[in-house]
Amino acid sequence: MTTAQTGLATPLQYMKGVGPRRAADLARVGLLTIEDLLYRFPLRYEDRSRLQPVASLQPGRPASIAGRILSCGLRATRRPGFRIFEAVLDDGTASIRVSWLNQAFLKDVFARGQHVVLYGPVDMRGHGGLQLTNPQYEILDDEDGQTIHTGRIVPVYEKAGSVTPKIQRRLVFDALQHVPEDLPELLPEEVRARHGLPGRRAALLAVHFPPEDAAIDLLNRFDTPAQRRLIFEEAFLFHTGVLARRRVAASEVKTSAVHVDDRIRESARQVLPFRLTPGQRRAVKEIVDDMQRPHPMNRLLQGDVGAGKTIVALLAALVAMENGLQAAFMAPTEILAEQHFANISRLLAPSRFRVGLLTGGAATAARREQLAGVASGAVNLAVGTHALVQGDVRFHRLGLVVIDEQHRFGVIQRATLRDKGLHPDVLVMTATPIPRTLALTLYGDLDVSVIPDTPPGRLPVKTLAKPESRRDDIYNVVRQQLDAGRQAYVVYPLVEESAKIDVRAATEMADHLADQVFPAYRVGLLHGRMKADAKDRVMKAFSAGEIEVLVSTTVIEVGVDVPNASVMIVEHAERFGLSQLHQLRGRVGRAAHQSYCFLVYQAPLSDDARERLKALTETTDGFEIAERDLQLRGPGDFFGTRQAGVPTFRLIDLIRDREVMELARREAAAWFAERPPDAQAVAALVEKWEERFRLIAVG
Ligand code: ADP
Ligand code: MG
Repeated sequence: MTTAQTGLATPLQYMKGVGPRRAADLARVGLLTIEDLLYRFPLRYEDRSRLQPVASLQPGRPASIAGRILSCGLRATRRPGFRIFEAVLDDGTASIRVSWLNQAFLKDVFARGQHVVLYGPVDMRGHGGLQLTNPQYEILDDEDGQTIHTGRIVPVYEKAGSVTPKIQRRLVFDALQHVPEDLPELLPEEVRARHGLPGRRAALLAVHFPPEDAAIDLLNRFDTPAQRRLIFEEAFLFHTGVLARRRVAASEVKTSAVHVDDRIRESARQVLPFRLTPGQRRAVKEIVDDMQRPHPMNRLLQGDVGAGKTIVALLAALVAMENGLQAAFMAPTEILAEQHFANISRLLAPSRFRVGLLTGGAATAARREQLAGVASGAVNLAVGTHALVQGDVRFHRLGLVVIDEQHRFGVIQRATLRDKGLHPDVLVMTATPIPRTLALTLYGDLDVSVIPDTPPGRLPVKTLAKPESRRDDIYNVVRQQLDAGRQAYVVYPLVEESAKIDVRAATEMADHLADQVFPAYRVGLLHGRMKADAKDRVMKAFSAGEIEVLVSTTVIEVGVDVPNASVMIVEHAERFGLSQLHQLRGRVGRAAHQSYCFLVYQAPLSDDARERLKALTETTDGFEIAERDLQLRGPGDFFGTRQAGVPTFRLIDLIRDREVMELARREAAAWFAERPPDAQAVAALVEKWEERFRLIAVG
């Protein structure tokens, strides 16, 4: 290890001023070493640089002042135990009273005659005159003139337990003294030069203690050269790691590559119930091209709800099966698995391939038989939930894994498959349109196919947000739809903590609708607490048109496909997230008739909820909705925090830093192409990457 490395790798507990308690508090927020500390941006910056003459102070704004303590001491108040530490400061232009509430320890900090700098709010005192209350302070006499907390642009850090922003500022200042002059540069020189990025050491210094001429607004937008450089650095390391991972994946050899000939094309035509859209056709081509290569496919198929992803995946499965390989089709819920099973079985009925359904963990005779079929190869296509690959299921010759509605699982770890000695092609599908920046990071090592179009003849869903008081109007529209032979969904939110109450609300609503509102129609109820076979019966009845109105909690959220349903009422729409509402809405508008979606809310709406409902009524474009959702919620919440495998960045904010991310991605690709690293360097990059950005696996 070089001295430079030891400098940054020093554990924080060895720093002056960090005892066991502070070390533990810092560790709790992920700060273990000096490097961690320096690679955490301040939350924001405060301009405390301009010292003001005391004589010119105005009440109501914060000010920085410097002067000498004329007198100071503790003062008791009428409230027992409540004490005020007061001082009088004079800077030659005037004097001012300063008070700190309940900080009795200050009596051991300040002394008459000291030279100090203060920063804080200026208030009117009761009987005229001004005072400074609870200011930040710094005593100059023991700092050899260097101010850290005042008299400059200062960084404000997030509090970490006992480590206040002020303590952290001191720690960062001290830590910066440990940064060696010859700190290794992590960016290629030419890349740095091309984009005018400062060196690593200079950037670290300037990010925490900006130079005098730094612009406070740029700092607070995290857009100074120093900040951009560190963000770029993280992005560059991220993307080179992704490229290295791809390199490794490309060297993996799969079970068996497929061949495509006219016989297989004809067999696909037999199965197809309709003409593919151009988007579907292109996706099929990209997927099948991958499948013909010797290394395993890693592809994401993205398409808005109703874009028709299932048939694309089925065609890929067909190609695998025609080549004597098995396919696994994984859905996020049992209902969806069953629905896929029913659809696929119907489509494959004329073929020689056998489809198996593997749901539930129960060791029933039926399940044992299915398992045996999968193991012997008698079952060519196995449909199930994600336990299909992660559980104890053994395949005869697994060639393709299709994962439907990917964001429900998080990133599938190839390693899980590899550990079982499997190297299949993997196709993940998602209906959550992922903003490009996020897609590149979430699925950095996946190739992406997009189906941009929808099957012909679809009309955009008419979406209306209505308060509860307008329920009768809504029911009238629903009744018209039912009279015209269509079907309807009524959706209830399901909140974990109050699942029972929600189920009761949904049940009561179902009864009410059946008895009072739509007595001429059959109303069904579906919720997560029902037994699997009961759910199944209801779902099948709704699919078959034997139930006209389906009252349901959000189990229908993803994937359910009943094209005859043309109207949806979402109750308590204000409780749903934007992307979730878009998913729900995607259950209607799946055929040629005009469809409706009513978002019923309870007033008053919060600003956020209003934004969400507005976005939904304004557009049906899933990408635009995803962008807005990302803006409203931030990337952490976009997929439900870390669950989806969102990498943990130290500095990058995926919304704020999109441009830098994109720039770094291009530069990393160019660098990788110009100077391809050898296998050893690639392995090192991958290891570092996985350690640093580690994606969270789920399941
Ligand atoms: P999603 O992409 O949301 O999974 P599906 O695969 O469930 O969408 O397809 C939605 C509906 O559109 C299904 O009823 C499907 O049969 C139908 N569909 C898919 N592709 C086409 C097409 N090219 N022409 C007509 N209908 C199609
Ligand atoms: Mg689907």
